[in-house]
Amino acid sequence: MQTFAEGSLHQSIQNLLVPIDSEQKQQFMVTLAPFFGNRLLLQADRLTAYSYDATAEQYRPDAALVVENEDELRRVLEAADKFGIPVIARGSGSNISGGTLPIVGGIVLSLTRLKHIRKIDPENRSATVEPGVVNADLQMALKPYGFFFPPDPASHRIATVGGNVAEGSGGPHCVKYGTTTHYVRSLRVLLADGTPVVCSDKFTRVDWPGLLTGSEGTLAVITEMTVRILPLPSHTGMLLAGFSSVVEAVSAVSGIVRARQIPSTLELLDKATLDTVRPFINAGYPNSEAVLLIEVDGSEASVQQQLEQLVAILKTFHAEPIVVAETPEQADRLMAARRSAYGAAARLASHVWTQDVTVPRPLLADMMSHVLTIARHYALSINTVAHAGDGNLHPLIPFHPDNRDEVDRMRAADHDILQKATELGGSITGEHGIGIDKLHELPLMFSEDELSAMYAVKRAFDPRGLLNPGKAVLPVTAEPSVSAPPQYPPLPGSLEPGSIPELREILRNAEFQHAPLGTDQNRYQGECRISLTHLRNIVDFDPDNMTITVEAGMPFEDFAAFLRDHRLMFPPVPLHSQQTLGALVAEGLPHLTQFGYGPLKNWILGVEVVDGRGCLLRFGRKIMKNVAGLDMPKLFIGSLGQYGIITTIILRLQPEIPTPRVYTLERGALTGTKDQDLVRKLSPLAPGVQGLWMFSGQIVIFLDGRDLATQESQLQTVLQDLNCSYQTHEAAPVIAMTQSFLSGLYHRAYDNNQAIILGCGQAEGVRDPYYLQLDGSLWIAPETNQNLKAFPGSRRLDQSGWHILGPEDPHLAAIAERIKHYFDPAKILTHVP
Ligand SMILES: Cc1cc2nc3c(=O)[nH]c(=O)nc-3n(C[C@H](O)[C@H](O)[C@H](O)COP(=O)(O)OP(=O)(O)OC[C@H]3O[C@@H](n4cnc5c(N)ncnc54)[C@H](O)[C@@H]3O)c2cc1C
Repeated sequence: MQTFAEGSLHQSIQNLLVPIDSEQKQQFMVTLAPFFGNRLLLQADRLTAYSYDATAEQYRPDAALVVENEDELRRVLEAADKFGIPVIARGSGSNISGGTLPIVGGIVLSLTRLKHIRKIDPENRSATVEPGVVNADLQMALKPYGFFFPPDPASHRIATVGGNVAEGSGGPHCVKYGTTTHYVRSLRVLLADGTPVVCSDKFTRVDWPGLLTGSEGTLAVITEMTVRILPLPSHTGMLLAGFSSVVEAVSAVSGIVRARQIPSTLELLDKATLDTVRPFINAGYPNSEAVLLIEVDGSEASVQQQLEQLVAILKTFHAEPIVVAETPEQADRLMAARRSAYGAAARLASHVWTQDVTVPRPLLADMMSHVLTIARHYALSINTVAHAGDGNLHPLIPFHPDNRDEVDRMRAADHDILQKATELGGSITGEHGIGIDKLHELPLMFSEDELSAMYAVKRAFDPRGLLNPGKAVLPVTAEPSVSAPPQYPPLPGSLEPGSIPELREILRNAEFQHAPLGTDQNRYQGECRISLTHLRNIVDFDPDNMTITVEAGMPFEDFAAFLRDHRLMFPPVPLHSQQTLGALVAEGLPHLTQFGYGPLKNWILGVEVVDGRGCLLRFGRKIMKNVAGLDMPKLFIGSLGQYGIITTIILRLQPEIPTPRVYTLERGALTGTKDQDLVRKLSPLAPGVQGLWMFSGQIVIFLDGRDLATQESQLQTVLQDLNCSYQTHEAAPVIAMTQSFLSGLYHRAYDNNQAIILGCGQAEGVRDPYYLQLDGSLWIAPETNQNLKAFPGSRRLDQSGWHILGPEDPHLAAIAERIKHYFDPAKILTHVP
């Protein structure tokens, strides 16, 4: 845990709260007035609406503007940059962390009028929207296409998609579908000085969309988002289970996870909540100590089967009663009661403090009982609802703000809850963000080096600290906490550190001597090659949590075999399996099952790295939801080791499915535009197919086998429509053949210097690729293909390593360089030209 020098934390915050220069403020207003006239709000009474969010706090801004287009936004940012005025982007202001409070004044930019849904593209499973589009409106617009946007915060009727992305929001469906970060593809943003840049999901130096998601308006203002959407499942089913204790209810949650069931919603309400909700909504909630609400989705047969299995599991945990909803209306009523938990608690007192912590799933019962103890200790009543399937709890504390003693007890209880969650390996926020509310609590989770690294990223984007100052990131600038270098011997040509401390020493030495290092075993250029072959241990395996923490030197094949022995799997199937996990994560390439399972990063919960100064930095934990601070793992996943050597990775797992199948077609079967037709027809199907790729004259379609009967009948109908003949096979040998083909391409690039180019997106210029994922997530082509020379967002792999191709946005390149300078001042780590 972090220990600050006494007073340094407060000092750093005070430094941040520098008042705005009144003359500069005057000039700022004078500059903007001709453009916006009386639309620029300055009067105290008109600013009230922009002074608060869903917390009880209030700070008045100096000005507010309801923005009508991106041009206006750019103009304000340029002027704010010129005169040093803070800028706070605001969606609906429904955040519960003080995220939109203008704590140092400045201008609030309301984005609610930027509410166009620009494109719904079912074929590419994506939607492009402006930031002010309300989540529920997007869901409504997607419904006729048979799609949905999985992030579903309980506030979905008011919260904007821009706010969802900026907070990294979650909701009840996260247990199956993940949080907002899993669905952001690309962003158009304005930087602090008003410069527009597009952060794409193509192969760039850094996963910019990943890093910006959850950054709470502190890095840039989002003006457009392209998000991934999914086909709506054809059927859903809902059940309620009552328990005679919270511990039993939570044990049942663990039992469900252990039995390899993945419901689409798994919510828990404690007795205090049930008692509060019951008088307001007649949902037929039993008089139990705790209730689980469980939703499942899929085909009709699969829903039926899942419900039966769940009932059987719940009975073994003494659930009574178990009520299976017989109609959609009854299911809606059950969920409505859950959704009204916050509103009902608000009737107990004039204010409700909503807490939001996450712990590893098996520790949910421990955390719930700590909350009860804390409530008793401080003589408070605390209602708790939980996204139990994610280990994410919301203790709700009703309080009266004018009762000083009660407020003090509430704040003390609040701190104790956060402390307990972190002691259990959890996070101080699973989905509501840091804002100002938890800024001072960040040291519960991060060391001074880690906080300083986050702040370095903030400064790389926003050097003057004008974007949403005082939120999400603590302004800590620390010297790296590594020992002073002794006299190091010269580095030999290769080293195999036996431990992470040894690796840190090597990096310190290399920095001291300005000696470049290489970790790539095949294309090595530095003065000393580092092999992580001895760092291949499983650090933590938690099957009940469905997580594993592994050292980066573990070969992927060994990792996959270990999981098979435990009937678990890591859903992304890598392009080739003779790779270490560290290399897989550092390359961050698309994978064979990307179409169904989303990108690799969606399955990585955390990384530990040693940076170019020898600092050990840990970001992420073995928890399903975590939006504490910036999403730093995204800086390291896919960035080819430029910022640090990945030493340990925390991965999310799923139950193994014993029956994956593949269908193969001759490439010639899809003449003309039939391959596009195939994608178009497969895209809206749920559960659908998970992988679609072409190599060696074959098209391979992968079905993961979850609800295999439905998957096969859907696919066969499509193939018959397209008049294609096909063959079916067990999946494993075809995957092995594909991976061996792809390994061959890699070897070709580094043994024979026949470079290959890897790219994604519409591959118009790509003729006769060696390999192609039909959903556009990856193509691999020979370098001799002249059309690819300047293809933006692609990479070339040759004997000297990876090269980024095509023009790179100079502003993003400059930010990447500033970040590089922080993590690797002596430039000893991989340089990606
Ligand atoms: C009753 C209730 C229930 C809730 N339930 C949930 C829940 O289930 N899950 C959950 O995750 N959250 C929940 N929330 C919290 C909140 O609704 C979410 O965080 C939501 O995503 C915020 O959206 P918003 O449009 O209101 O954003 P705002 O509150 O306006 O802004 C949130 C943050 O995003 C930044 N921001 C907004 N737009 C942009 C932009 N275009 N560019 C850059 N930064 C921007 C702001 O500066 C601020 O830091 C709930 C809130 C309430 C009041």
